[in-house]
Amino acid sequence: MPELGVQDHAAEPDDLRHLPVSALARVGPKLVERLERLGIRTVQDVLFHLPLRYQDRTRLTPLAEIRVGLETWVEGEIRDAAISYGRRRSLKVWIGDALGAGLLLRFFYFSPQQAAQFQSGERVRCYGEVRQGPQSLEMVHPEYRILSHTDTDAPLAAALTPIYPSTEGLQQTSWRSLTDQALALMARTAPTELLPPEILTALGLPTLTEALRVLHRPPLGTPLQDVTEGRHPACVRLAFEELVAHQVSLRRMRLEQRRIRAPVLAGDGRLRQQLRASLPFTLTASQERVVAEIAADLAQARPMQRLLQGDVGAGKTIVAALAALQALESGCQAALMAPTELLAEQHQRNLSGWLGALGLEPVWLAGRHKGREREERLTAIASGAARMIVGTHALLQDTVAFQDLGLVMIDEQHRFGVHQRLKLREKGGGVNGAPHQLIMTATPIPRSLAMTLYADLDLSVIDGLPPGRTPILTRAVPDTRRDEVIERVRQACLAGRQAYWVCTLIEESEMLECQAAEDTAQQLSACLTGLRVGLVHGRLKSQERDAVMAEFASGALDLLVATTVIEVGVDVPNASLMIIENPERLGLAQLHQLRGRVGRGVVESHCILLYHAPLSTIARERLGIIRDSTSGFEIAERDLAIRGAGEVLGTRQTGSVQFRIADPLRDQSLIAQAQRAADRLLVAYPELVMPLIERWLATRERYGGV
Ligand code: ADP
Ligand code: MG
Repeated sequence: MPELGVQDHAAEPDDLRHLPVSALARVGPKLVERLERLGIRTVQDVLFHLPLRYQDRTRLTPLAEIRVGLETWVEGEIRDAAISYGRRRSLKVWIGDALGAGLLLRFFYFSPQQAAQFQSGERVRCYGEVRQGPQSLEMVHPEYRILSHTDTDAPLAAALTPIYPSTEGLQQTSWRSLTDQALALMARTAPTELLPPEILTALGLPTLTEALRVLHRPPLGTPLQDVTEGRHPACVRLAFEELVAHQVSLRRMRLEQRRIRAPVLAGDGRLRQQLRASLPFTLTASQERVVAEIAADLAQARPMQRLLQGDVGAGKTIVAALAALQALESGCQAALMAPTELLAEQHQRNLSGWLGALGLEPVWLAGRHKGREREERLTAIASGAARMIVGTHALLQDTVAFQDLGLVMIDEQHRFGVHQRLKLREKGGGVNGAPHQLIMTATPIPRSLAMTLYADLDLSVIDGLPPGRTPILTRAVPDTRRDEVIERVRQACLAGRQAYWVCTLIEESEMLECQAAEDTAQQLSACLTGLRVGLVHGRLKSQERDAVMAEFASGALDLLVATTVIEVGVDVPNASLMIIENPERLGLAQLHQLRGRVGRGVVESHCILLYHAPLSTIARERLGIIRDSTSGFEIAERDLAIRGAGEVLGTRQTGSVQFRIADPLRDQSLIAQAQRAADRLLVAYPELVMPLIERWLATRERYGGV
């Protein structure tokens, strides 16, 4: 690779997209490798690597004006300096100004020479964050300089100082040099503007080049708070472009789906009628609404792509059963898939109860079906002898061939990625085209977020729970009061109710978690003499686990000690008390799901979050959310507000969407506009679509495989 300087760089549009970082001055192989760790390969990547925050080193703040949290330069005269031998040895330096305002500088690490530097009467200038100390405002380990009598006017920075997110061995000075060079190159060959002027002008947004320049080198006077909180037009501009890219990509996927044919599954309603007649309850208005939405989609000749949201216990399964029957009435097969065997098994039980009565016993395919048994089931699925099929996502495996699959239903969307959804298309039964898809999720995604993440899906929501449920009362109790809680369990069980005791472990080790559950079960049976204590965990064979579950369901056990495996799969209305140990280790969605195991009957249910003190501020806040709300949607909304989108959905596990700059919650107000802009782009500027997707979602789209 020849050395490319700023001078001989050819002025071709979008060159920076291909210009490797190694073309920049002072970038050797080591630096290239470190940048690579951050996914930065080209000069354009450098431009899109934005500062995390900024420091204002351009001015001095008078001591009288400093406030807690402020990061700034201050200057003052040393009034006193002393080494204090408190709980921790420290050097304390008091500074003050002519107006009588003061500040304490505190050093925990210092050499004798340093201590000797701070002579009363000397002037010192420091940069740091102001904190509230025990007695006064202070700066801990500020950068400082003793001013000699000649340099009282030592220069301050001329511009705001950007602080870049970095990696080991990469100093801010390197970032400064890299971005200086990239910005100089950008001034000559701007990255292609991918948002048409009509859209930018309508929204009053700056061009890409302007936005990047402002974010890397905010001019003096830029309201930094606006920048760090994403309100500044330069941030809005980039977040908006990212949202548009995302929308465009999803819309494109959706248009593509539209072009695909699917079997028309109108059905004659006969089977559905029979099922409805056999139910011990009537559907709620909101269940009826989503049933109708789904029914209308299935009657179209293009594949349904619908996300069905409903809180834990909202009654999604019956909606799925009705959709399946519509497919069966139309002569197609239907499949229901779940992420775990336990959950698939519960579906199998439910559907077997409902459809079995109509002579349509579902075929159940699990990992444990091996050899001949498995072959038989596969043959039934391929020949069409099996009409309704239930299984885990393993149904997607190539060895599973369907005769005429018309509808696929997937439970728990958050563990099921876009790419898997696309793969499903190929499972259709040839002649009729791709199957319809219904994706069900009990992870309530706030609507704004759902619209962003799943713009390729239509959305149906079951609001609220079926009538007759009593809300669950939740309390957080420190584990120092474990004995009281055990007593509480005894009282509940003696009163004829049942309880769950859920053990969690922070280690990613199922074995340790099972061990903890075993120990807890032993300990609890020892304390709770006379009560029948059962144990389930992920390491039991499924028959053993089923047997314990069945005992608990029949009332033969009073207390069920379990790991988080019971998150899904059990439905025991008489269980009205749940203890969750170390709830602070679980995500809110998971806690909410767990808690949904109680509150299924008519008696009032209780959930005790047995936490280990001390809790961090965030942990306290999060447990507070769970305690105060039983609505999965509200919990998700508030969780999102304190944690950010990625974590709510557990995107790390799913490989689903992660934004670089946009924040779907913060940028909610932009989403509708981004959708309109995406539509406009697809119609009027098709040439911008691919470059936009490449700029923002290249790796993701490849992963998606469209
Ligand atoms: P989820 O949405 O969490 O999958 P389920 O489908 O498992 O919820 O439903 C929870 C329970 O509520 C089941 O026992 C189901 O039979 C029952 N159920 C569903 N719809 C109604 C309704 N309209 N009225 C009363 N009970 C219902
Ligand atoms: Mg369910």
